[in-house]
Amino acid sequence: MMVASVALLWLAGTCALLAFVYRKAFADAWAEPVLRAPVLILGGDDWGYGPVEQAQRLDRIVELLERFRDSRSAHPIMTLGVVLAGPDTDRIRADECRSYHRVTLADPRLMPVRAAMLRGVARGVFALQLHGMEHYWPACLMAAAAADKKIRDWATQNGFPNTEALPAPLQSRWIDVTTLPSKPLPVEQVAAAATEEIRAFVEMFGATPEVVVPATFVWTEAVESAWIRAGVRVVVTPGRRNESRDAEGRVVPGKHTYFNAATGPHGVTYVVRDCYLEPSLGKMHPETIDALRANTRAGRPTLVEIHRLNFIGDERAMEQALGEVKRLLEGARAIFPALRFMSTAELARDCRERSALIERKTSARLHFLIRRLAGVSRLRKLAWATGAALPAWLAYLATRPRPSEEAQPLT
Ligand SMILES: [Zn+2]
Repeated sequence: MMVASVALLWLAGTCALLAFVYRKAFADAWAEPVLRAPVLILGGDDWGYGPVEQAQRLDRIVELLERFRDSRSAHPIMTLGVVLAGPDTDRIRADECRSYHRVTLADPRLMPVRAAMLRGVARGVFALQLHGMEHYWPACLMAAAAADKKIRDWATQNGFPNTEALPAPLQSRWIDVTTLPSKPLPVEQVAAAATEEIRAFVEMFGATPEVVVPATFVWTEAVESAWIRAGVRVVVTPGRRNESRDAEGRVVPGKHTYFNAATGPHGVTYVVRDCYLEPSLGKMHPETIDALRANTRAGRPTLVEIHRLNFIGDERAMEQALGEVKRLLEGARAIFPALRFMSTAELARDCRERSALIERKTSARLHFLIRRLAGVSRLRKLAWATGAALPAWLAYLATRPRPSEEAQPLT
């Protein structure tokens, strides 16, 4: 009796201690909505300014995505993180790199790219998101061009160059990378630029972007609040906010961490994109399927990063990338018959409005809470070492959804 009492006291004590030490992990895992069906969203960044051949490549993606449907007859959606502008290389060249000149997607020469994007939207396979006016801060580009012949050549070449070819630090738009480590940009300048890019998006596409994907996931408070004041509702994150670049040019995460549907200042919703399908970098569909399994198991959506880089340039590489998307969609549909395709904006809306996609039963939410916490490696090890895993395991079994509940169709 005495031994049992001591054991019970010990378990209660360690559970309380772990819950206290990991209170933020507990609170976040509980607050994050549990999805009642697997969700797959393709996040295609960097489309927009650049070679006109993008139009034909976008059409190929549309053709592929149109061949698939989920159980509700919805097509897979590739959200396009749109870059609205880039260098007017003719004018920069004529000016001998003394000042920056911009070409936007409203230029008639880039009309085929914009038209291809809108065709995909009309067919229900693209959703447009803002990635940025440019994929760099123009003053930093010009400072780099003055000092580096390669950057000068990039900014003065014929046609519309690919921003992917710029050194990584320059591709961060919202910090001053003239020297490394980076420095903050003047707050009033970034706020004005963030407002300007929302206005430009509205002019080009006729609607405010509901979702922004910050370039290289580097952004600041000032940028975010300007976006939100201009009507943005969702910011895509990798689960953190990068705030600077170190002396080697690597991104440095700030203190902020985010979970799906976390809300921030002025009611902004954050969504986490933490999976990849980047065939040009060797990240192939089996890895993405594993990520889909893991996220689904934790009641989370799967947002897959797949950059434009995979689809432009070499034709064989594009065919390989299309093949990988096809295999991902085939595999995901076969493994998860209840799979849902949607846009990031729809997902955020489902979470905000607590639609039928979101689990409401407390016992099921407790079950997923335990699954999520079991994914926190240090906490899991401590729970096993102290014995706190035993009551957690019993609670896990007791809250397990019945197969009949799991099979219920969503309305
Ligand atoms: Zn990008």
